[in-house]
Amino acid sequence: MDGESKTILCGSCKVPLQGPEDPGPKDTVACPNCDRGDTVENVVKEVEAYAEHEASRYLQDAARDAAQRSQFMTFDGPRITPRTFRFIVDLDL
Ligand SMILES: [Zn+2]
Repeated sequence: MDGESKTILCGSCKVPLQGPEDPGPKDTVACPNCDRGDTVENVVKEVEAYAEHEASRYLQDAARDAAQRSQFMTFDGPRITPRTFRFIVDLDL
Protein backbone atom coordinates (compact mmCIF):
# COMPACT_ATOMS: atom_id res chain seq x y z
CA MET A 1 0.00 0.00 0.00
CA ASP A 2 1.24 3.46 -0.81
CA GLY A 3 -1.02 5.31 1.59
CA GLU A 4 -3.11 6.62 -1.25
CA SER A 5 -6.77 6.40 -0.33
CA LYS A 6 -8.93 4.28 -2.56
CA THR A 7 -12.47 5.04 -3.50
CA ILE A 8 -14.81 2.37 -2.18
CA LEU A 9 -17.36 1.27 -4.74
CA CYS A 10 -20.69 -0.50 -4.51
CA GLY A 11 -20.02 -4.14 -5.45
CA SER A 12 -23.11 -4.20 -7.59
CA CYS A 13 -23.29 -0.77 -9.25
CA LYS A 14 -19.55 0.03 -9.23
CA VAL A 15 -20.24 3.60 -8.19
CA PRO A 16 -18.49 5.36 -5.28
CA LEU A 17 -20.24 5.14 -1.92
CA GLN A 18 -21.42 8.35 -0.41
CA GLY A 19 -21.25 9.37 3.22
CA PRO A 20 -20.39 12.23 5.49
CA GLU A 21 -17.25 14.26 4.93
CA ASP A 22 -14.36 12.54 6.74
CA PRO A 23 -16.53 9.67 8.13
CA GLY A 24 -15.66 7.85 11.33
CA PRO A 25 -15.94 4.03 11.81
CA LYS A 26 -19.55 4.22 13.03
CA ASP A 27 -20.78 6.51 10.28
CA THR A 28 -22.81 5.00 7.49
CA VAL A 29 -21.81 5.18 3.86
CA ALA A 30 -24.12 4.00 1.12
CA CYS A 31 -24.42 3.52 -2.59
CA PRO A 32 -26.33 6.46 -4.10
CA ASN A 33 -27.74 4.15 -6.75
CA CYS A 34 -29.16 1.13 -4.88
CA ASP A 35 -28.97 2.34 -1.25
CA ARG A 36 -26.78 -0.56 -0.22
CA GLY A 37 -24.86 0.74 2.74
CA ASP A 38 -23.23 -0.08 6.03
CA THR A 39 -21.03 1.47 8.68
CA VAL A 40 -17.55 2.44 7.59
CA GLU A 41 -16.24 -0.26 9.94
CA ASN A 42 -18.17 -3.03 8.17
CA VAL A 43 -17.53 -1.64 4.72
CA VAL A 44 -13.79 -1.62 5.38
CA LYS A 45 -13.93 -5.26 6.56
CA GLU A 46 -15.75 -6.26 3.40
CA VAL A 47 -13.30 -4.38 1.21
CA GLU A 48 -10.37 -6.04 2.97
CA ALA A 49 -11.92 -9.45 2.35
CA TYR A 50 -12.43 -8.46 -1.27
CA ALA A 51 -8.82 -7.31 -1.69
CA GLU A 52 -7.49 -10.50 -0.11
CA HIS A 53 -9.72 -12.66 -2.29
CA GLU A 54 -8.78 -10.83 -5.48
CA ALA A 55 -5.08 -10.94 -4.61
CA SER A 56 -5.17 -14.74 -4.13
CA ARG A 57 -7.06 -15.17 -7.37
CA TYR A 58 -4.53 -12.99 -9.14
CA LEU A 59 -1.61 -14.97 -7.73
CA GLN A 60 -3.25 -18.25 -8.59
CA ASP A 61 -3.88 -17.13 -12.15
CA ALA A 62 -0.26 -16.05 -12.46
CA ALA A 63 0.94 -19.42 -11.15
CA ARG A 64 -1.41 -21.24 -13.48
CA ASP A 65 -0.20 -19.24 -16.48
CA ALA A 66 3.41 -19.94 -15.61
CA ALA A 67 2.66 -23.64 -15.24
CA GLN A 68 0.95 -23.73 -18.60
CA ARG A 69 4.01 -22.29 -20.29
CA SER A 70 6.41 -24.63 -18.56
CA GLN A 71 6.85 -28.33 -19.10
CA PHE A 72 8.45 -28.66 -15.68
CA MET A 73 5.62 -27.28 -13.64
CA THR A 74 2.11 -28.45 -13.16
CA PHE A 75 -0.59 -26.64 -11.38
CA ASP A 76 -3.80 -28.39 -10.64
CA GLY A 77 -5.11 -26.95 -7.41
CA PRO A 78 -8.78 -26.12 -7.24
CA ARG A 79 -9.53 -22.84 -8.88
CA ILE A 80 -10.58 -20.06 -6.53
CA THR A 81 -14.18 -19.31 -7.40
CA PRO A 82 -15.00 -15.69 -8.00
CA ARG A 83 -17.15 -14.28 -5.24
CA THR A 84 -19.29 -11.25 -5.19
CA PHE A 85 -18.68 -8.68 -2.52
CA ARG A 86 -21.04 -6.01 -1.28
CA PHE A 87 -18.33 -3.39 -1.45
CA ILE A 88 -15.20 -3.30 -3.53
CA VAL A 89 -12.26 -1.08 -4.46
CA ASP A 90 -10.34 -0.68 -7.66
CA LEU A 91 -7.24 -2.82 -7.24
CA ASP A 92 -4.22 -2.16 -9.38
CA LEU A 93 -3.43 -5.80 -10.00
ZN1 LIG B 1 -25.25 0.05 -5.63
